[in-house]
Amino acid sequence: MIRLIFWIAIVFAALWLWRKIKPSAPQQAPKGGDQTLLMVRCAHCGVHLPQDRALNRDQQWYCSPAHLQQGPAARDR
Ligand SMILES: [Zn+2]
Repeated sequence: MIRLIFWIAIVFAALWLWRKIKPSAPQQAPKGGDQTLLMVRCAHCGVHLPQDRALNRDQQWYCSPAHLQQGPAARDR
């Protein structure tokens, strides 16, 4: 009889341990903005490109130095 209780205790301990380890499977990735690539729109030609490759001037984004010099497109207004 004691052996049966012993095995039941073992099973419960195993279940408890398994349940304790299990929640780590769906690891919650930190929702940081670092990995999401922010896309910006060239104010001159309207092409979309990653923000780290875009050029910024006067709160406008440009795809290339040429468009940076030409400024935002006049048709946009
Ligand atoms: Zn452009």
